[in-house]
Amino acid sequence: MRAISREAFEELVAEAIEGLPDEFLDRLDNVGIVAEDWPTEAQRRYHDLSPRDTLLGLYEGVALTDRESYGMVLPDKITIFQKPLESMCSDEEDLIYQVQVTVVHEIAHHFGIDDDRLHQLGY
Ligand SMILES: [Zn+2]
Repeated sequence: MRAISREAFEELVAEAIEGLPDEFLDRLDNVGIVAEDWPTEAQRRYHDLSPRDTLLGLYEGVALTDRESYGMVLPDKITIFQKPLESMCSDEEDLIYQVQVTVVHEIAHHFGIDDDRLHQLGY
């Protein structure tokens, strides 16, 4: 699909977040959600990605389930990557859907749900 502006992309991310159920939104705690073009080399290396792997979103932080002694730490950060998402989508409708899936996937990590479980759930 044709590339969209960062502003338009951030709008899609914001809409994906607003569309989440309230039970979800109420439980978000100390987490920021940002958009970037591509993952950095360091992020790719940290997650052990091969050159063929694509990273659509990234969760960095301390999941709610791991916060027994939590304090004075940086907020959790969720990054949604615009360029890989654009390049896998054929049109804007597709992009809206994939952004939603990616946002839900990364927020689920914030809640302490791992990738295996998410794949079972279809995210
Ligand atoms: Zn994941």
